[in-house]
Amino acid sequence: MADNQTERRVAALREQLREHNYRYYVLDDPSVSDAEYDALLNELRAIEAADPALVTPDSPTQRVGAAPAGHFAKVRHPQQMLSLGNAFNADDLREWRESRIVRLLGSDAMVAYVVEPKIDGLAIALTYRDGMFVQGATRGDGEVGEDVTANLRTVGGIPLALRAPDAATKLPTLIEVRGEVYIRSADFEALNARLAANGEKVFANARNSAAGSLRQKDPALTAARPLRFFAYGVGPFAGVELGGQWQALQSLRSLGFPVNRDARRFTDFEDVIAYCNEWMARRDELEYEADGMVIKVDDFAQQRELGVVGRDPRWAIALKFPAREAITRLTNIVVNVGRTGVVTPNAELEPVLIGGVTVRNASLHNADYISERDIRIGDYVTVKRAGDVIPYVVGPIVSRRNGSEQPWDFPARCPACDTPLERPEGEAAWRCVNFGICPAQLVRRIEHFVGRGALDIVGIGEKQAEQFVGNGWLKDVADIYNLTSEQFAGVEGYGPKRIANILAAIEEARSRPLDRLLVGLGIRYVGTVAAQALANHFGAMDALMAASQQELEAIDGIGPVVATSIVDFFARPEERALVEKLRAAGVKLSGGAPRERHSDALAGKSFVLTGTLPTLTREQAAALIVAHGGKVSESVSKKTGYVVAGASAGSKLAKASSLGVAILDEAGLLALVGDSPAPVPEEPEPPLQGQLGFDR
Ligand code: NAD
Repeated sequence: MADNQTERRVAALREQLREHNYRYYVLDDPSVSDAEYDALLNELRAIEAADPALVTPDSPTQRVGAAPAGHFAKVRHPQQMLSLGNAFNADDLREWRESRIVRLLGSDAMVAYVVEPKIDGLAIALTYRDGMFVQGATRGDGEVGEDVTANLRTVGGIPLALRAPDAATKLPTLIEVRGEVYIRSADFEALNARLAANGEKVFANARNSAAGSLRQKDPALTAARPLRFFAYGVGPFAGVELGGQWQALQSLRSLGFPVNRDARRFTDFEDVIAYCNEWMARRDELEYEADGMVIKVDDFAQQRELGVVGRDPRWAIALKFPAREAITRLTNIVVNVGRTGVVTPNAELEPVLIGGVTVRNASLHNADYISERDIRIGDYVTVKRAGDVIPYVVGPIVSRRNGSEQPWDFPARCPACDTPLERPEGEAAWRCVNFGICPAQLVRRIEHFVGRGALDIVGIGEKQAEQFVGNGWLKDVADIYNLTSEQFAGVEGYGPKRIANILAAIEEARSRPLDRLLVGLGIRYVGTVAAQALANHFGAMDALMAASQQELEAIDGIGPVVATSIVDFFARPEERALVEKLRAAGVKLSGGAPRERHSDALAGKSFVLTGTLPTLTREQAAALIVAHGGKVSESVSKKTGYVVAGASAGSKLAKASSLGVAILDEAGLLALVGDSPAPVPEEPEPPLQGQLGFDR
């Protein structure tokens, strides 16, 4: 017998789960993450499993989805629409095979499995009589769904009449086609951008946007949304012979339905696992969001024999991919001033685990992004971390507001130097225009100057740059060369050995090749390759400073934009003064050809980069490869020569190992090119979308 406390907990869990189901399935506006929802459901399942007397037929563990909302007619499904049990790893899959398939069928020697991506959209059932589409319904609670026929007629890919594959084939007299209405990831982004631009509410994820778009009262609104459809199964049918899932998929395709081309049939269960793992690693290659893989026993007779338990068929299971989204509280918004003055907003979050990584900060892109989504301090927000992208805030959970949330205004002045911020016409970014003087910009500029791709001064990094600017030692990069051992005397943490090492590194950096100095100056658009072209051509700073736009454009690899940027840079008196200060400090500005760093060491080889390398940025590693004749590409294939993998490498690494592509770490890459210094990208400006506007 359950005690009172357990009963109260069960009642509370059921109430919460019903409310979440309603928000998720009826309003398409969830207020908790799937992981939070699953935790509540699992807790309820565990209590019910320990005391089966507590199970009631209306418990959320026994039903899928939620009862339909008011504005559509109700449709009773002739055959229940089920959910799927979950597995989270290969062991769970093997356990499912043993405890369900092998135990009930005696063996799975005669079992074939069909494996399909689990598209994150919403389940629907389409009824065709004598070849004509007559009714379409949502899953609803599995028993009763909503009649959304008019809306489904507008969805591309749903045939209004079945197609006869050939004259000899008779169309089924009745067939219920089941499948998923979904939205492609790129279409989802564009849709949300459009909604935001119109001041409308954005969707939390692709699934909610597909569901919300399908369940519009006005079919014209549905038609305007980029919905798509994949058929993945059949309900009741007549006038056609279908023996199993695989045959059904082939028939559906020939009847004119889009069927996922990545579905496969296997007879060996270990191949099932390998295929699931392959897609877990490659999920970023799919053009739609998939939250897992579905494994189904192929044969319909075996499916019937295995039957259903609760709300899940025994003959199918979903292998869930790790979650990439979570909901957490945004505690503050801070801005970061980059080297070129771009000011970017970032969210401080209550720490949250996403895909095995604790996320504390996330990008907010730019001012428009925040105001369009009305993101406020104190809001619960959805945070997404996918692939190699920096985590970012998707949007607020408005229903979780309690009134204490504070709207946020972009600061009018630079937080570091108090200069009024400016937003150039047509740009998304605000900038601090106190170039060269703003201490935040100066710190970033120094960091860049001493970096591996530039003057490579070991012993000075981000922390030291902040410290030396903070105590007034450095007013520009040239001051680095005037640091003395006396300045360090008595400063905590700087013993004689450390001071000597820093000063020796500075001394060595007085005679770096010209191209490295050019990189260090941080001229917009001048990265490693352009700097080398300039150094090779002019051989000396003075000649470069005197060059005209025309002369610059005549150099191979220097286009008009780069040329203009160089001319503008040296037209500024403060930059010319800086060069003179470097000269006075004994920094080599000419003399001798720059060290040749081009080689053909990597000629004909293609590279894919993944994860975070210990010292090189992604761009530096790419520029290094290109400078040595190699090619860098985005995706791994059999033709890839090497995958260079760093920390938290994801799908690309897994794919490389499955294809047998050679894998290198950073040291391995440097060894291949003879340990050349790290180059700096040609375009050091922060990209504003995609890479999420982090300024470096
Ligand atoms: P499910 O989404 O885990 O699995 C069943 C569904 O998978 C099917 O109905 C079908 O729509 C879909 N599917 C996609 N591809 C398929 C394929 N190839 N073959 C068969 N089915 C395929 O189950 P569910 O019951 O729809 O939803 C549970 C999920 O919804 C969980 O992830 C849960 O966390 C989430 N949820 C979240 C909240 C919330 O408030 N955040 C509330 C309710 C449910």
